[in-house]
Amino acid sequence: MKRTNTFTVRPLSDDGEQLLRDLLDASAALWNEVNYQRLMRYNDEDEDVWDADTGQLEGRYKGALGASTAQQVIWTNTEAWRGFFQNKQKYHDESNTSVTDHPEPPGFRGNEDKGRQLKTVIRNTSYTVEWGERSRLEILVGSELKDRYNHTGRLRLEIAGDPNWPDYEKQGRLDLWYDETDSTFRASQPVTVSDDAQATPLADETAALDIGANNLVACTTTTDEQYLYEGRELFQRFRDKTREIARLQSKLEEGCYSSKRIRRLYRKRTRRRDHAQEALCRDLLERLYTEGVDTVYIGGLTDVLDTHWSIEANAKTHNFWAFKQFTERLACTAEEYGISVEVRSEAWTSQECPQCGSTDRTTRQQDTLTCPCGFEGHADLTASETFLRRHTEKAVRPMARPVRFEWDDHDWSGISHPHERPKEQRTDLSTVHRDGNVASGESSTG
Ligand SMILES: [Zn+2]
Repeated sequence: MKRTNTFTVRPLSDDGEQLLRDLLDASAALWNEVNYQRLMRYNDEDEDVWDADTGQLEGRYKGALGASTAQQVIWTNTEAWRGFFQNKQKYHDESNTSVTDHPEPPGFRGNEDKGRQLKTVIRNTSYTVEWGERSRLEILVGSELKDRYNHTGRLRLEIAGDPNWPDYEKQGRLDLWYDETDSTFRASQPVTVSDDAQATPLADETAALDIGANNLVACTTTTDEQYLYEGRELFQRFRDKTREIARLQSKLEEGCYSSKRIRRLYRKRTRRRDHAQEALCRDLLERLYTEGVDTVYIGGLTDVLDTHWSIEANAKTHNFWAFKQFTERLACTAEEYGISVEVRSEAWTSQECPQCGSTDRTTRQQDTLTCPCGFEGHADLTASETFLRRHTEKAVRPMARPVRFEWDDHDWSGISHPHERPKEQRTDLSTVHRDGNVASGESSTG
């Protein structure tokens, strides 16, 4: 169960109070700057809100806030924008009645002249709460504030009253703000109460992922679900940017290795990929958690080894995917759900026919895997199915239509593809020999 502890906090001295006010004010200023950058881009048709240079803002504010709080404030603004885009989509979707008012982009937290709304958000690793006779909250502050107030770097605050939920296992991020109506500082802390199922998997189901470039993730679960996250368009745009970077590089004067424009393109390319990956991890793991999955197996980059990929394309996809970074991100997100991630380099899963077990007779044409035995199916989904079968004792027989997702620049939205699974693929898979004739081959990640 997720619950929230809300409590009143009091600084222990006048200096402490001023420090706290400065911290909250700098957080509001950072929020406003990030929001302004995004709003400008939102109002400009040729720009993308996610291209705002938040790294530069983080750099400017980490002195006051500390790097982790600066990041957390920016991330909270990101969430607000994502929520806005989701609502906008629901608003324009006639079949969806959950949003009836025209959604507005995230607002500002006051302004410098009239005063900002004093508010911040602190990551769970940057504060501690100690409950007891004299309950205490301690938060980390940045080096600038620390120096200005000749402080220890940890601001101590007294907590008034008792917690609503003292017995928790895991603390979430802390919201901290000044309530003007009664001139009080307040904090709220989401906690996972100990008898809760949220932080532990709901069952012991398994999922296997096949990771590629055209289909970023193909996933099969032991609960017979299949998900496909399509990456064609993202990948295409990545290639366009790469080409543009190469073109600009070829025009550089001798002795020059980069330019402002090139660096900007690189940053843009990276941010887009990171944003899509982050959102993918969240979307996928929420689904897997709901399915009761406790272990996820990740195979590696199978479709990039297909014959129509040149060596050059391979290098680029590795680069694009930053496979290691992606699996780390996935593992971090999975941890929040209590799901463990196992990376395995799987040989031949992408070529194996799930019907007859053959690995050398199958052919892959774009997304379709065919076998002379009569099998025809989606190559990446089939690969994740085969991969899953090797790692579970349970029967794997996805019967439902796979859910497909496309990236719309903000979210992964599900799209329905009729006739997704050809009839042949509905064959009873329990007749397949699980240990088939799988050769011990080379790692497919290269
Ligand atoms: Zn076959």
